[in-house]
Amino acid sequence: MEKLVLGIECTAHTFGIGIVEVTKKEVLFNEKNVFRDDNNGMDPRKLSEFHISNFDSILLKAKQYLASINKSFSDLSLITFSQGPGQGNSLKVAGLVAKTLSLKYRVPIVGVNHIRSHLEIGKMHTGFEDPLFLNITGVNSQVIAQSEHDKNYVVYGETEDIGLGNLLDSVAREFDLGFPGGPKIEEIAKSGKHMMSIPYTIKGMNVSFAGMISNIKQKKQYFENKKEIELLSGEKIVYNKYEDFLADICFSLQETVFAMIQEVAERALAYTNKKELVLVGGVAANKRFVEMTKAMCKTREVTYDALPLPLCMDNGVMIAWAGYVRYLELGDKSRGQGDLSGLKPMPYITVENNI
Ligand code: ATP
Repeated sequence: MEKLVLGIECTAHTFGIGIVEVTKKEVLFNEKNVFRDDNNGMDPRKLSEFHISNFDSILLKAKQYLASINKSFSDLSLITFSQGPGQGNSLKVAGLVAKTLSLKYRVPIVGVNHIRSHLEIGKMHTGFEDPLFLNITGVNSQVIAQSEHDKNYVVYGETEDIGLGNLLDSVAREFDLGFPGGPKIEEIAKSGKHMMSIPYTIKGMNVSFAGMISNIKQKKQYFENKKEIELLSGEKIVYNKYEDFLADICFSLQETVFAMIQEVAERALAYTNKKELVLVGGVAANKRFVEMTKAMCKTREVTYDALPLPLCMDNGVMIAWAGYVRYLELGDKSRGQGDLSGLKPMPYITVENNI
């Protein structure tokens, strides 16, 4: 029998709803609104005002979609929402919308860990059993895998300061490229010719990106003052055209940060002995990153896959699927049943569905 699960993502900039038919692992609906403020970043008050004013447009689309397949919210088997980690004001919107739907339509509800949802959707989409994950988002840069003995997710390596996506966004802001910075940098990097020397910092399976921003700011000052800039080869160059300088900055930045991620991923593969690798998170949209990751996996005879863009960025589908996985886990533990036949509210948050 078909089982529809609706997931609500709202941990930061995105309010998204996804609907998945979980028995066939079929993504039916995936819509979102994304908050943007190029000048001020994510002001918490503006962020919550945005979500409160706009969530209903996505909810309406979900309702219309369900009507188009002769269903309604009452036909859902489960409602799931991003419970954390995230921005407090955004999380409240996710929780409130989910709880209200659950109460009104008497559908069970379960809260989901946002980071785990990036991983679970990676497993669902690829069909991999036990992969190493590179979770490279705006906020996070992590190498994660399930431990052999208890199957809990273990973070084997991560950034010691900012996430890779946020680094790309900060560099893009420095050069007035707009937000999000990753896609702009990717495009400009294609014209880069010279590899500059950018700090490459790895500590075990951790990486550090923070020093790169001041290094790049310094290079910008050198360009403005017509000073020589050192390349990785040791050669020195004075740039006359801003476009050439910017292209080499974007090219060198990408090559450096993606190589750092490959190095820690290789270390983690050697340590965990995993034979599959999945790229998840928004930065996985970058074609050069994918190309480098594929090449590294080929050398190590590891099977590689990545997610399509709509499932890489924050979205409701990943919350729907991860919520279903969580529901099955909780069901196994609390009632000894691994399906949705009970249709009782889970003990994750207190909601009286059956009154
Ligand atoms: P988290 O999901 O961990 O809370 P987040 O919501 O900020 O973090 P995502 O939505 O997964 O992250 O990804 C957004 C990031 O992906 C942004 O920093 C953006 O610049 C980056 N990004 C998007 N497209 C590309 C691309 N083509 N190349 C590089 N980076 C990209």
